Amino acid sequence: MTHNNEDLLNRIVSLCKRRGFVFPSSEIYGGFSAVYDYGSYGVELANNIKSLWWKVMVRENENIVGLDASIFMHPKAWEASGHTSGFSDPLSECKECHTRVRADHILEEAGVFADEKMNEEEINRLFEENKEKLRCPKCGSSDFSKVKKFNLLVQSNLGNFTGDWNKEPVYLRGETCQGIYVNFKNVLDSTRVKVPFGIAQIGKAFRNEITARQFVFRKREFEQMEMQYFIHPDGATQSFEEWRDRRWQFYIDMGIKKENLKWHEHENLVFYAKAAWDIEYKFPFGFKELEGVHYRTDHDLSQHSKFSGKDLSYRDPKTNEKYIPHVVETSAGVDRTFLAVITDAYTEEKLEDGNERTVMKFPKELAPIKIAIFPLLRNKPELVKKAREIYDSLKARYMCEFDDNGNIGKRYRRQDEIGTPYCVTVDFDTLEDGTVTVRNRDSMKQERKKIEELKEYLEKELSPF
Ligand code: ATP
Repeated sequence: MTHNNEDLLNRIVSLCKRRGFVFPSSEIYGGFSAVYDYGSYGVELANNIKSLWWKVMVRENENIVGLDASIFMHPKAWEASGHTSGFSDPLSECKECHTRVRADHILEEAGVFADEKMNEEEINRLFEENKEKLRCPKCGSSDFSKVKKFNLLVQSNLGNFTGDWNKEPVYLRGETCQGIYVNFKNVLDSTRVKVPFGIAQIGKAFRNEITARQFVFRKREFEQMEMQYFIHPDGATQSFEEWRDRRWQFYIDMGIKKENLKWHEHENLVFYAKAAWDIEYKFPFGFKELEGVHYRTDHDLSQHSKFSGKDLSYRDPKTNEKYIPHVVETSAGVDRTFLAVITDAYTEEKLEDGNERTVMKFPKELAPIKIAIFPLLRNKPELVKKAREIYDSLKARYMCEFDDNGNIGKRYRRQDEIGTPYCVTVDFDTLEDGTVTVRNRDSMKQERKKIEELKEYLEKELSPF
């Protein structure tokens, strides 16, 4: 079944709310723009995405180590990174309906490219020149206010007891990687890594995003999975190519459909970067960035060296050469991966009996619940007892759910909508012959299995999880 794109996004948003994947933040107070909460199944899915990333990036690479840096950092770190002066989006407001828009997005819709490096004056000139072509996404008007650059860093009052905001503002981090750069020396001195090596981190980041549409794609509080790979300048280009391939393969291995992924190469690079490529996913609102793979030269470590006055160079233990390592960065978003996985899995099927079902065909490794266990009837204690025994025997190994509510058909529909690969039902035959029904989410086939063989069967089916 196909739907137009807006309709598809609405269906996904509605399923996410109805089935406990994503709730709008503070909903009882009318919501809070561009902030979302993960519900019981959402948090399982997000955790599975993060575990998979950690496994592939940290556990499976001897020379990549983890880190969990704080959200707050010394204000100087954001000066060194260029965020206090340069981390801004061009903002304009529709004079008709007062919707705030990203000037670069409005220009892009009109087929005009605005370079990230353009200052206010240059963007305003582009706005003026293309006035006729620009359209407000809400009301269609072409009448916009002057463009102003708007800093995306979110400020806090941490440690500021005087109320003097100009002093030296403390920010909530705008990206996780700065925590990696400032710990470069600590990691080097405390672990056994040698260049080339990587530091990986999963954590929250905050940005005062202007446009707050597109569900969890663009949040003001979001989570990143970033890895900074430190390398000798001579090997950096080759390393960049390797990481580009590996990060693409990550999504393929995860089970994302290849036709929904594509590469986008940045043509206008920031001055210090040598290459920047994005992996884009076909979200319901079009192909958009899922992850960035960037070759950032020695810019970040040099900047932090300069601003902190600390030497962040590396001495090769074999050759004795001293240099500032170059960095290849892989920067992915938990929330965007979450939305990509949800979009990829969302399926509406017409069944042979004429009914329809919505089923989330998650890769098994990512499914929030792996196995649901049902007693056929809730008012038959023998059935409930047996089903509970099975549930208890599986729950330490897999995320399971026990459900005795409503008829079996209704329970299957519910598990389909949360993407549970296997449902196990205990019925009257179970009490006679010790077998249960195992129902497969995708084929909907039901098989009888002996209880003693159930564990082994599920272990095989759900491997490598
Ligand atoms: P965009 O151009 O879409 O704003 P970006 O280029 O600013 O994204 P990066 O700074 O490269 O994004 O951040 C790396 C990754 O972090 C992105 O690929 C994305 O997955 C994630 N990310 C960035 N901003 C957000 C956000 N507001 N909400 C959710 N995820 C985000």
